Amino acid sequence: MKTIGLTGGIGSGKSTVSQLLAERGAFVIDADKVGHEIYLPGKEAWQQVTAAFGPEILAADQTIDRKKLGAIVFGSTEARQRLNAIVHPLMFKDIAARIQAKRATGFSAPIVVEAAILIEANWIPLVDEVWLVEASTGAVVERVAAQRGLATSDTEARIASQLSNAERRKHAQLVIHNDGSLADLKQRVDRAWERLSQ
Ligand code: ATP
Repeated sequence: MKTIGLTGGIGSGKSTVSQLLAERGAFVIDADKVGHEIYLPGKEAWQQVTAAFGPEILAADQTIDRKKLGAIVFGSTEARQRLNAIVHPLMFKDIAARIQAKRATGFSAPIVVEAAILIEANWIPLVDEVWLVEASTGAVVERVAAQRGLATSDTEARIASQLSNAERRKHAQLVIHNDGSLADLKQRVDRAWERLSQ
């Protein structure tokens, strides 16, 4: 059975689609969670990131202080690229191991890798198909404001800083449009799920 990479821009509906797929029997790997876990003290990413950016990025309890690290990479493309060059391949390895471990248990339903940066981080080789969740800027602005109180200008700035949907579509085998209601989205996810079992 297939492994699906689920991607899309800020507030497009990735988590909502992941949840719907999980309800239908998929096993979901959330790349955000993997990103947090690989930073734990003693892990390879912790060692490499601390070596690259210095002990000043550590909190008192030796965990990586993501705010301090964020402040360093926020203002510098070079620092961001250096961090990504360390973290993305390690996340790739970690996600690959999770997929393998799940399949080794005999799990034969679809596995979903939910990752906003699936394409940018070069993780497509992890999956058999890429599914793109796409919503209009208007819908995203409205939903993200309701969900986490983000101002329109901030949401628009984040959209502008991410890969465009035109670019993402070049890599996607399936586009799930999410401009309608949640009921519409469920129907679309049902159709996508049925397509998987054909
Ligand atoms: P991010 O990557 O920014 O975390 P995401 O792509 O995972 O976002 P979600 O968290 O799934 O997006 O959706 C953003 C918000 O929009 C959530 O509050 C979700 O409940 C809501 N939402 C998603 N789809 C719809 C829809 N079709 N109708 C109404 N609200 C929706």
